[in-house]
Amino acid sequence: MKNFATILVAVDFSDSSDNAFQMALSMAEKFGSHLVVLHVINEPIDLRGFYVPHISYEKLEEEIAEGAEKMMESFSRQHIVGFSDYETMIVPGLPHEQILQQAEDKGAELIVMGTHGRSGLDHVLFGSTAEKVVRKSKLPVLTVRLEEDA
Ligand code: AMP
Repeated sequence: MKNFATILVAVDFSDSSDNAFQMALSMAEKFGSHLVVLHVINEPIDLRGFYVPHISYEKLEEEIAEGAEKMMESFSRQHIVGFSDYETMIVPGLPHEQILQQAEDKGAELIVMGTHGRSGLDHVLFGSTAEKVVRKSKLPVLTVRLEEDA
């Protein structure tokens, strides 16, 4: 049985991932884990330097990164009270690839994420990021479903 020394929680700032985050935080508190809070800037790789001139694309990228930093700061202020053993990470890329990569790089023993994200689609069992991570991860993945009020 692992002690979950490091838990990676993937957040996309949706209600579903907020809910998953609460679960990750409770577990980190219980197990005394280090918590890695990861947000991936979903990079539109195909658009780079094609539809938008390079210079304005870079400016856009900079503004997106600043916006993501602000969202993460406000997320941490709002959701993390009285717990200090955590770090936040913002990386560009494909969410499922980065979740798997960063979990490995950080030596995480558990990945926590929502079953759904910002795209909603409640009729499917898993969103596409959740599905890909569950399918490809060598680590245990805890997916948390947000129960909406009926
Ligand atoms: P999805 O599969 O996209 O509906 O999202 C399911 C879960 O994957 C969300 O609740 C988050 O925990 C995680 N997730 C989705 N997109 C991202 C992202 N860009 N960065 C970090 N986590 C994400």
